[in-house]
Amino acid sequence: MRRRKTHISLIIVTAALLTACGPILAQEIRTACEESDFQNYTSYEEMIKYLQQIQASSTEMLLSTYGKTIEGRDIPYAIFSRPLVTRPIEAFASGKPVIVLSANVHGGEKTIRESNLILMRELATGGVRQNEWLDELVIIAAPSLNPDGCVRSTRGNSQGVDMNRDYIKTEQPALRSFVQNIMLTWWPHIVVDGHNGGSYPYHICYQGPTHPDTDQRLIDLCHFDIFPYINERMEDNGYKSFYYTRGNAERWMGGEADARMQWNYGGFIDNIPILIESPGGHDRKTAILSAKVTYEAILEWSIENSRTLRRTITQSRQEMIERGQKAQGEIPVEFEIGPTDFKVSYEYTEGRGADRKILQATDKDLIMKANPTKTRPLPYAYILEPRAKKAIEMLQRQKILIEVLQEDTELEVEVYQATGIELRAEYDHPAAVTVTLADETIKRTQTFPKGSYVVRTGQMMGRIVTHMLEPETKDNVVRWNTMDAILPRVPSTTAEVAAAGARAAGARAAGARAAGARAAGARAAGGQRQIVEGRQQQRGQRAGRAGMPQRGRTAREPIIPIFKLMIPTQLSTRILEI
Ligand SMILES: [Zn+2]
Repeated sequence: MRRRKTHISLIIVTAALLTACGPILAQEIRTACEESDFQNYTSYEEMIKYLQQIQASSTEMLLSTYGKTIEGRDIPYAIFSRPLVTRPIEAFASGKPVIVLSANVHGGEKTIRESNLILMRELATGGVRQNEWLDELVIIAAPSLNPDGCVRSTRGNSQGVDMNRDYIKTEQPALRSFVQNIMLTWWPHIVVDGHNGGSYPYHICYQGPTHPDTDQRLIDLCHFDIFPYINERMEDNGYKSFYYTRGNAERWMGGEADARMQWNYGGFIDNIPILIESPGGHDRKTAILSAKVTYEAILEWSIENSRTLRRTITQSRQEMIERGQKAQGEIPVEFEIGPTDFKVSYEYTEGRGADRKILQATDKDLIMKANPTKTRPLPYAYILEPRAKKAIEMLQRQKILIEVLQEDTELEVEVYQATGIELRAEYDHPAAVTVTLADETIKRTQTFPKGSYVVRTGQMMGRIVTHMLEPETKDNVVRWNTMDAILPRVPSTTAEVAAAGARAAGARAAGARAAGARAAGARAAGGQRQIVEGRQQQRGQRAGRAGMPQRGRTAREPIIPIFKLMIPTQLSTRILEI
């Protein structure tokens, strides 16, 4: 009886509130950008208010935040589905594809952030076409991945760091939250990431996963299904779309294939990442509305091809786990980008301003296929010694399953011999480590102490595991300095590694202090040039030093202390808690 009373009084209060204020209908809510007739971009505060208004007017949208920026801004996202899904397990149980629509990881690139905000309202508004899609899909919208950079209109975050190069390192809090709380929590089937770039006269330029360690079926779905579908939908609306990034009379050049970028990282965890770029040269309203059509085309494709999409992603994930458990297959550790197996026809421009001409090219090469130039065999597991703790911490940020040996264990392992170690300035990273290895591995029987780490490749994160633990790849625990203290004294570079590490720390501190992020980057790059030049002078002397024994340890080969267990082996382990 008591409960019933409460219930009735709640209804009365709610009814009174509704009568007093009147419910705001979702279709009446506008972004600040729309309010200004596309003259202004929606500010951070306006975005938050707008999202709260839509949330309050819909039962099919769950608004939340997945993280905070360095400057303390909440990073919003919203889930749309009918019935509403509130947790990943419910999305999984629904059997619907999970599609993430993101934008604005480069803070100054705001066009598709606006498209995303408008689309969020349409998804939440009963009776409109977009709202019908909620029966078929779970849609997660994350309109502004980099609010601190958006406020500043900078490419990087408040530290000047390009977060679209941080997907493997996950050093930046905002990007790390996106990876951990969206990508590795919701396990989406498709992730669309909006940028400003590409080439006029196109309204949207796109690229799918390109790294050679991507399941080929995901790459093919982009080339032969999703992208032609986008083209059709764009044409229906009077817009043009083509591949990222630019072309001339001879060829069309795609973007890069490194794992650290969103459109390649997604391939590593077997989703379909799609980069969409809004090229300059169109008025703001056209740019925003045409990008919205691209987002919508991808959602519509996902509905029409739901079964194919889900089956392909599931197969790809299962096969990675099985390959790892059987220790079968190869890991491409180096690659070159060359032409795809098919030709393309496109429009490109010559000249600038009033002299700009639009020209046509027919049956030309599309330079977008990454061909492996070096592979290494896939192991059952990697073993790291207890002293590799910093590397383990980087792996844990990716939610990789890590185990710990419960007793001293003798294992037959393979290990790489280093023939050179160099320091190079990498994008936003002043002292990255590049190792050169002997082709032949050293096979040895070694006793690993209790507390050593075991990282299996037979897990959903298998591709990320191999990419982060094979020393020759472009994004691994060695390169990103987590093993500096335990690398061998190959060509006597330890002192330089330490010096560069100090410089990197100094540059980072300077970066944090500097008001302008760009200045910090320039300073860091400047410092690095000196190191590289210094190293080039020494290069001639190096060969003789290889094989120098490590100080305080017994003399042995200069090995990289990442050990490969090549065959399935029973191990006494427990899982390392995050
Ligand atoms: Zn961008």
